[in-house]
Amino acid sequence: MSTHGAETSSTPHYWPPGWHSRDGRLQVAGRDAGDLAEAYGTPLYAYDAGLIRERIEALRTRLPGPVRLSYAVKANPMPELLSALSPWVDGMDVASGAEMHAALAAGQPAGRISLAGPAKPRALLEAAIEAGAVVGIESARQLELVGEIAAATKTAPELCLRLNPDFRLRSGGMRMSGGPSPFGVDAEAAGALLERARALGLRIGGYHVFAGSQCLDPEALAESHRRGLAEVLALAPAEAPPAFVNLGGGLGIPYSRGDEPLELGPVAEGLEACLAELDRRLPGTALVLELGRYLVGEAGVYLTRVVDRKVSRGRAFLVTDGGMHHHLAASGNLGQAIRKDFPLAVATRLAEPAAETPSVVGPLCTPLDLLADRTPLPRAEPGDLIAIFQSGAYGLTASPTGFLSHPPPAEVLL
Ligand SMILES: *Cc1c(COP(=O)(O)O)cnc(C)c1O
Repeated sequence: MSTHGAETSSTPHYWPPGWHSRDGRLQVAGRDAGDLAEAYGTPLYAYDAGLIRERIEALRTRLPGPVRLSYAVKANPMPELLSALSPWVDGMDVASGAEMHAALAAGQPAGRISLAGPAKPRALLEAAIEAGAVVGIESARQLELVGEIAAATKTAPELCLRLNPDFRLRSGGMRMSGGPSPFGVDAEAAGALLERARALGLRIGGYHVFAGSQCLDPEALAESHRRGLAEVLALAPAEAPPAFVNLGGGLGIPYSRGDEPLELGPVAEGLEACLAELDRRLPGTALVLELGRYLVGEAGVYLTRVVDRKVSRGRAFLVTDGGMHHHLAASGNLGQAIRKDFPLAVATRLAEPAAETPSVVGPLCTPLDLLADRTPLPRAEPGDLIAIFQSGAYGLTASPTGFLSHPPPAEVLL
């Protein structure tokens, strides 16, 4: 099967590694997409656990050995996927009580789970401290609440300080730092917060910097990791080195036409330098990356069935049983400035050449429910399956399933 870049055939503009076609039909973990659609119904999210494992192994081969990999649960919290992935990573990042419990249920030891989020009400902090998870401090109030809970329960909570660094990821889909931000403590205010933590008898055992997400520029990533570490080194006391520094991640995957897969070389070199610096300044401190989409995004496909085809004023429309209510990101409504198609194909006609440029739309009564905008595809008929690749992260979990009250999709890990 060809790789990305196919122009006029029915192959999508990006064909993720590890996916195969047999007799012109998409195979998912060695199973025919049509059989899966019969067995589980459509619409269907299907994830290939083998591809997730290969991805993590390949990444570990490329990155310096000591780098720890944490999984950001918000990318895909499916319980079976978490359980499968749990032994392959060194921790999980969670951002709600339910994600924390999902990570525990998947087998992560509490001490390897860290809790982030701008709102951590007292009950959530109490639950996290009781469970023994690492609580990320992101505001003065969170620190005070943790101090009160620690005093009341006579516990020594595991804490890390999340910094809002004073730089931005140079390129990347979603910037999460650099200016005013609800996430983390402004780097310039962190010194005072550390002092307050000491006064409260709390130990800050780790530091966390997350500069942004979905970055395909390896030099920009390396720079953000280097600068994130510099901000931590300016703060962390050398006489009592923290257990870990989490430099975020931000490693992106190709979605749009023109995106190229991330080149890992410069990222790995940058991390090598970070490790050396860490070894000099804070010996014994571990370096952590937290990744979501890079680990699971390419290992999932969304399968939806064509229920109608119509031609309106000369334009062909394929109407499917799935849409933006299951896959907001593919419809372009999850934070994209300019709507671009995800890589998509007719899973039941992969060997056929493109014959028309239909729009693929979902069942919702809104023009926002658009999965592909006049894209070259073979002629598909009702009953055919459309596959949307790159759907393993920020798919179902990031979608408004209640909107228009259609049934939810099935989800399966193979
Ligand atoms: C969302 C998030 C991640 C994961 O981002 P990806 O782009 O999926 O890798 C990591 N860390 C934090 C703090 C996040 O909010």
